[in-house]
Amino acid sequence: MRLSRYFLPILKETPKEAEIVSHRLMLRAGMIRQQAAGIYSWLPLGLKVLNKVGKIVREEQNRAGAIEVLMPTIQSADLWRESGRYDAYGKEMLRITDRHEREMLFGPTNEEMITEIFRSSVRSYRDLPLNLYHIQWKFRDEVRPRFGVMRGREFLMKDAYSFDVDAEGARRAYQRMFVAYLRTFNRLGMTAIPMQADTGPIGGDMSHEFIILADTGESAVFCDKSLLDLPIPGADTDFDGDLSPIVAAWTGPYAATEEKHDEAAFEAIPEERRVAARGIEVGHIFYFGTKYSEPMGAKVAGPDGQEKPVHMGSYGVGVSRLLGAIIEASHDDAGIIWPDSVAPFDVGLINMKPGDGPTDEAVASIERQLEAAGLEVLTDDADTRAGAKFATMDLIGLPWQLIVGPRGLAAGEVELKRRATGERETLPLESALRRLI
Ligand code: ATP
Ligand code: MG
Ligand code: MG
Ligand code: MG
Repeated sequence: MRLSRYFLPILKETPKEAEIVSHRLMLRAGMIRQQAAGIYSWLPLGLKVLNKVGKIVREEQNRAGAIEVLMPTIQSADLWRESGRYDAYGKEMLRITDRHEREMLFGPTNEEMITEIFRSSVRSYRDLPLNLYHIQWKFRDEVRPRFGVMRGREFLMKDAYSFDVDAEGARRAYQRMFVAYLRTFNRLGMTAIPMQADTGPIGGDMSHEFIILADTGESAVFCDKSLLDLPIPGADTDFDGDLSPIVAAWTGPYAATEEKHDEAAFEAIPEERRVAARGIEVGHIFYFGTKYSEPMGAKVAGPDGQEKPVHMGSYGVGVSRLLGAIIEASHDDAGIIWPDSVAPFDVGLINMKPGDGPTDEAVASIERQLEAAGLEVLTDDADTRAGAKFATMDLIGLPWQLIVGPRGLAAGEVELKRRATGERETLPLESALRRLI
């Protein structure tokens, strides 16, 4: 992609309304544009990252055996009356009336709808286990939308729903999502710690929030430092096998959010391992038994022919919130530092002298070679000062910058900069290409 043909509306000024660094940087880097409180347009650079985050979330859901569907954003109020949540949900729900005076709503979550889909077609225990997920926009009329996409009103969520014959099956479904989440956040370049969360009326130990430690996080969290160094389950993990040892390793050391915090248990950890910090909730997994299947009549016949309500769980990931969380965890004074896995482009190719025949030719040839190798390249072919070029590349945070100018080319050399470390190296063009490809 040539910068001269791209749409990258960089802001020179720091937007006043942005209170935290990720919000500031997303606005400055031309990733998003606010349309109303907590409602954003995704501009090309932001959309590219959003799609890459979504792709990793999707790959790990699929690996763990979940199956993708797509449910609508608009739901019927009647569905929510069946579960009893239409009145209970309160002001966070955006309620809509259509031209026939039918009550509708913009979905804040999809337990009711997925239960309706399930009950309409699944009858037997033989069809279980089943886990269906989608990645769809949600709307919650938050009292205080803030921090950009971190607490939006419209936001993109991955929500999965599992169905099992009994609590034991549901525990295995829960463990599959638990492990999938460890892998997902790790592939996004982050350390997310599963922390015990409130299970509400159901009780038990089957609710975890996945938390990223960050000073700007909205929750107070407490954990054992050893969790920061635990190995992440590999891509070869057998999701049909017994995942209890992995879950046990991750749930053994102390970790809890404020609501579940037990000061005595925390103080039993050696002092140097106690972490009391702020955290961002990027995922939440939950077992809720027959809370929806019972009132909504989602039943399957067991081997004995007897019908019983299915045991369900739900598993959310804040896909759009993750962009803010990644930036909170990975930036410096100059701008964003994208992890390789979600960077909008792999390489920023900087032409130091656009209009100079040999330089233009060399840049075009390098661009072709990188793209042929499957890399995504943003080529700065604009006629701007060197300082402005470097500042833009640092701001948008591409993992590599390849700097090509007439003087270097005369010696067969280019400059390669790794954004994360700031290391710059002058080296022969061939070596630079080998490094990248
Ligand atoms: P929070 O405590 O931040 O309000 P929640 O507990 O209400 O979140 P869940 O119902 O657990 O959210 O939804 C699953 C995931 O969706 C959350 O873990 C979070 O990552 C994301 N999410 C929830 N609300 C928002 C929001 N307003 N903006 C962006 N992402 C959100
Ligand atoms: Mg909330
Ligand atoms: Mg929460
Ligand atoms: Mg939650």
